[in-house]
Amino acid sequence: MRFCYRCGISEEEGGPLIEGLCQVCYRKENPVLLIGEEVNTELCQNCGSYKKRGVWVDPKSYELEELIFEVAENALLEELEDSFSEKIREYEVVSPEELEEIEDLPVGMAVVSFEPLDFHIEHFPAIIVYEVRVKARTHELQRELHDERKRVTVYVRQTVCPRCQKFLGGYFEAILQVRAEGRPLSEEERKAIGKLVEEKVDEIMRKDRMGFIQDTIEKEEGLDFYMGSTSSARKIAQAIRERFGGTISEAYELVGLDRQTSREVYRTSVSVRIPKFRKGDIVADRRGNVYEVERVDGKGLTLKNLENWESEHLDWKTAKREKVDTVEHEESEAMVTSVTPGEVQLMDMESYETYELNRPPFEVREGEVYRMVHVGRRKYFRGKK
Ligand SMILES: [Zn+2]
Ligand SMILES: [Zn+2]
Repeated sequence: MRFCYRCGISEEEGGPLIEGLCQVCYRKENPVLLIGEEVNTELCQNCGSYKKRGVWVDPKSYELEELIFEVAENALLEELEDSFSEKIREYEVVSPEELEEIEDLPVGMAVVSFEPLDFHIEHFPAIIVYEVRVKARTHELQRELHDERKRVTVYVRQTVCPRCQKFLGGYFEAILQVRAEGRPLSEEERKAIGKLVEEKVDEIMRKDRMGFIQDTIEKEEGLDFYMGSTSSARKIAQAIRERFGGTISEAYELVGLDRQTSREVYRTSVSVRIPKFRKGDIVADRRGNVYEVERVDGKGLTLKNLENWESEHLDWKTAKREKVDTVEHEESEAMVTSVTPGEVQLMDMESYETYELNRPPFEVREGEVYRMVHVGRRKYFRGKK
């Protein structure tokens, strides 16, 4: 006859013995839930982020009560994971109701549930008392599962995350400059770019927490965005070029030495220069053909030839090769007074002077008023009034 060496009960009564212990003493001597009574954690008072496995992450919820529970539960779960007995190889988190129902488990497996018993979250540190319960099997001869409960108090304190420390300290890593070629940015462009940048930053910030805009400076010639990360500035510059066309360049400025590493610290300026041309501009190419700009984008230009009103698309390379550039011109309005097979007679709507032009290869009717473009001495039909 064998007896439990701890309590002396016979194997017949309290067995089968495991490692010389009766069933009850085996469970007592081999607890699975080794978590301490206190867990400390913190969240950023500025952005609500908290550390998950050592990395600052944005919360799922920004509603304060939900946020505090999210942070507390994350800390509790991380602590739990690190403090199971070494006999546990695998665990699963379930609801207290589900845990209640579980009667058997494979060796090495634990199930854990937790629920808040009490909490004070009106001010910091927020305090939440959880009841944690675990069922587990650590030996195949166990008749009953380990079933352990513990009260764990989680303290959630406030701090400022490293990102927000930098942000609040006025930190920026790069300047994104948005300009237009040979002219200041227009009001509409400023608005459209501002909106695009905002959307893009929201997208970037989901992955790059340093992608913030520290400051936006309106300059006469364009916009400067002070950015928390260079990669964010580059991504936004690309998005602007995709939408508006243009070129991107970078420059580096030595701003000092890092006191800790004594390495030189550079600041990057990312410049995106959008094209000179805008929709509605009158341009000419190297052969003297006159066009109205119908569309400008990242790929190139769509131009309406004012000779025949046909549209053509030029990529930026071709536009450069063809020396497309804005051309000095005047505008007027004129009414068609007569149409002959070869000519059109028009009357200027301001001076009432009349003049003749070759009949264009599109339909014009008497009585219609046209917007006209004058380049040098030549006149073109731009469109119907
Ligand atoms: Zn015993
Ligand atoms: Zn923060």
